[in-house]
Amino acid sequence: MTRKAHCCCGSCRIEVEGEPLLNAICHCSNCKRRTGSAFGWSAYFADERVTAKAGDFGLYEITGANPQQRWFCATCGTTLLWKAAAWPARTGVAGGCFTDIPLPEPSATVSNNGRCVWLGLPAKWRTSL
Ligand SMILES: [Zn+2]
Ligand SMILES: [Zn+2]
Repeated sequence: MTRKAHCCCGSCRIEVEGEPLLNAICHCSNCKRRTGSAFGWSAYFADERVTAKAGDFGLYEITGANPQQRWFCATCGTTLLWKAAAWPARTGVAGGCFTDIPLPEPSATVSNNGRCVWLGLPAKWRTSL
């Protein structure tokens, strides 16, 4: 199955083949800021499962203990994908950007110490990677 994710304005897109290696939500402050939401929804695919990528991307590089490269649409600002040094050969994609064929239900919730107290989640999800 090929899934397509795109930014708000539609000029940046990525296509991935198959199901994600990891499909999780994260409650860390970095994910909250990236999305402007209560948590980030992240889907990781092996790099070779990324079958297309197009658009005018800006790059934001996070340095320090957990370096990351994050690509966002230069027009509308939507963060679409990233690569984390801690998980080489994987591409992270913003889960909410898969709107035509949505991802399956996440299987994990991480950085749970940052979870908003009002947020209820399915008990069957793993609470670590
Ligand atoms: Zn855009
Ligand atoms: Zn996070």
